[in-house]
Amino acid sequence: MKIGVLTSGGDSPGMNTAIRSVVRQTIAAGHEAIGYYEGYQGLIDDEFSILTSGDVGGIIDRGGTILRTSRCKDFFKEDVRAKVAQRLIADDVALVVIGGDGSFRGAEALGKLGVRAVGIPASIDNDLYGTDFSIGFDTALNTVIDNLSKIRDTASALERVFVVEVMGRQSGAIALYSGLAGGADYIILPEMTVKVDDICARIGAGFKRGKSHFLIVNAEGAGSAFDIGNEIKNCGGYDVKITVLGHIQRGGAPSAQDRLAASVIGSRAVKELLEGTAGVMVGMSANKVTAIPFAETFGHKHQLDMELYDIAGILAI
Ligand code: ADP
Repeated sequence: MKIGVLTSGGDSPGMNTAIRSVVRQTIAAGHEAIGYYEGYQGLIDDEFSILTSGDVGGIIDRGGTILRTSRCKDFFKEDVRAKVAQRLIADDVALVVIGGDGSFRGAEALGKLGVRAVGIPASIDNDLYGTDFSIGFDTALNTVIDNLSKIRDTASALERVFVVEVMGRQSGAIALYSGLAGGADYIILPEMTVKVDDICARIGAGFKRGKSHFLIVNAEGAGSAFDIGNEIKNCGGYDVKITVLGHIQRGGAPSAQDRLAASVIGSRAVKELLEGTAGVMVGMSANKVTAIPFAETFGHKHQLDMELYDIAGILAI
């Protein structure tokens, strides 16, 4: 059996660590490892390299993905997938797909055509059900809290409000976790309604008790930081500064936690395939490596732990 690996959809730090793990575990088990380029596009074009242990040397700490990634429209076509499946089955290739929800739907669709495929959750948004953490989330959090510290350092003038916009269109996970870990005074999530009156009351109370500045972390999905900043300006006449962190949150060397997760999940993903399991996402739950059927991950939403929101609110007083 050959094990093919690809990275697909939105990239995240730690994808390279996962590729390294998949390739070396495959070789250690006596099989051939193949890397497909640019996600599902590489499967369609049959663009791949046989990967040796040396080929994945020196990438454990590199952000991005050496296999590159893509959003591939053609893979939504049934006839295209049928051709890909035929070739993979003929070549005796089983697949490890590193990506998010969309990429797993592609893997599931291939599975229905007889291709053995497993998924590795990689997403800075941490929005996948069935794993406590997706690879890249922890690194993104570290990037955000590092920047929150820097923004706080510049808060030399009194009574300024800082609104920092972080990634998360559907999920406020980055905003919630980085807001708590970074000591934000207020966190705005897509999962809740924005209450500008409440924010302004909090700012007023903060300044009254002598706070020098007020730091708000805003998830992009909750609305633009510029719009929210304007509303705050209008309601309290505050001096509001906006920072949109943007794509720096996807980059950088993966954190220790992301490297550990990518290493153990990558190894387990290969073992699952070699033992004949397919159609599962390998993730981490309560510090244990787990494998759950794709269908289960699609059927549920990764819920935010709103207790963290309450704690962040209490600690910001
Ligand atoms: P992510 O994996 O980060 O969620 P996307 O949702 O963009 O990223 O999905 C990545 C790719 O996976 C898509 O561009 C497409 O090639 C493939 N894909 C997504 N959904 C499906 C689907 N329902 N059927 C087949 N392929 C899909």
